[in-house]
Amino acid sequence: MKAILILVGTELLNGGMLDTNSIYMAEKLNSYGILIRYKMVVKDDIEEIKTAVNLAKKSGDLVIISGGLGPTIDDLTKQAIARYLDKKLIIDEEELIEIKNKFKQKNIKFLEDNKKEVEKVEGAVSFENKVGMASGMYISGIACFPGVPRELYDLFPRFLKWYSEKKKLEIDKVYIRNLLTYGIPESYLNNKLKRFFTNTNIDYEFLIKDYGIIIRLQSMESNKNLVEKIIKKIYNELGTNIFSSNNMKLEEVVLEMLRERKLTLSVAESCTGGMLSSKIVGVPGASKFYKEGLITYSNSSKEKRLGVNKKTLESYGAVSFEVAKEMVKGLSTDVGISITGVAGPDGGTKEKPVGLVYIGLKVKENVKVIKKVFKGSREEVRKKTVLCSLFYLKELLSEGSN
Ligand code: AMP
Ligand code: MG
Repeated sequence: MKAILILVGTELLNGGMLDTNSIYMAEKLNSYGILIRYKMVVKDDIEEIKTAVNLAKKSGDLVIISGGLGPTIDDLTKQAIARYLDKKLIIDEEELIEIKNKFKQKNIKFLEDNKKEVEKVEGAVSFENKVGMASGMYISGIACFPGVPRELYDLFPRFLKWYSEKKKLEIDKVYIRNLLTYGIPESYLNNKLKRFFTNTNIDYEFLIKDYGIIIRLQSMESNKNLVEKIIKKIYNELGTNIFSSNNMKLEEVVLEMLRERKLTLSVAESCTGGMLSSKIVGVPGASKFYKEGLITYSNSSKEKRLGVNKKTLESYGAVSFEVAKEMVKGLSTDVGISITGVAGPDGGTKEKPVGLVYIGLKVKENVKVIKKVFKGSREEVRKKTVLCSLFYLKELLSEGSN
């Protein structure tokens, strides 16, 4: 079964407001096995809404509209549907009494314009709005809901339940698997995996996020085994570059590993200036494993707080393999991360260009230093460094458990 969404609202078209209702509706529809063929955004205009409905009716089984059901002059959706179907708009007396009571309870004077909120096209089934005023309606394969998100969230699940019972829908839920990867560019991922992506009953996507790339497979529940077979092949191909299959972020994965192994973590940051620490403390329950985060920005701080040797700093410079190593060794926990780098935009040299970063990692006695040269602005270099440090700590922690 295919649905077409129509999002009504001039503000949605001109950048004044982001359409979030379609994201919500997609998830709910998918749980009933209803896929969205496409969605349209139209302005508050009767002719534009009619044109959109006309188009949508030709390409889907169910047309779902959100927005334009309120009492103001720009709320025109029900009028547009009435014109499209060549039917009258009517008001059910019982529904009118109900809405007047709601206004009374809230101590708000009922205006003539508020009648619009319980109007419906002749012959339509209406759906009561339990958290607001404008009711929803369904007629001839067209369903209309308020645009206010919390009102939509009240009405939409009730409508879907009613609709699936009415249509006796056999529910084959949408089945989605997300694999979160780090460290392999999009085109390389595609090159490695495209030979597995041949079944046309599955949608394959690569979604670029700031932490890496999500490989997303979507099909129906009835194809679950098929999807899982491909997931296995992807795992065999990519190994530990996949850091999560349940939408956990890198920092969450790392903290979970620390929890399992009862290890404590500290970090010493130079160019990232607390960014890594901030990511770690963003995970609920971090306090059980996270001991301290030092921002050792100057050379003297590196000496004083971490015991980095003055000679090491003088011989190799603050951004060096040796200093990163001494920094991480200076942390008095089981597990540690140290970061020292040239975030830019100034301060780069031929030997030590902007973006050069050394990351020290420690899991008990096992100490490792990673060198990277990241491209991008100061902010980007710092963000990439934080993610990189978490990824390689995850790798080192897994080494220890093998
Ligand atoms: P309406 O039902 O058109 O009166 O919508 C009322 C309010 O809901 C609008 O002013 C927006 O703030 C919000 N809204 C409408 N459509 C959407 C949408 N697609 N996504 C998120 N918010 C919306
Ligand atoms: Mg509106």
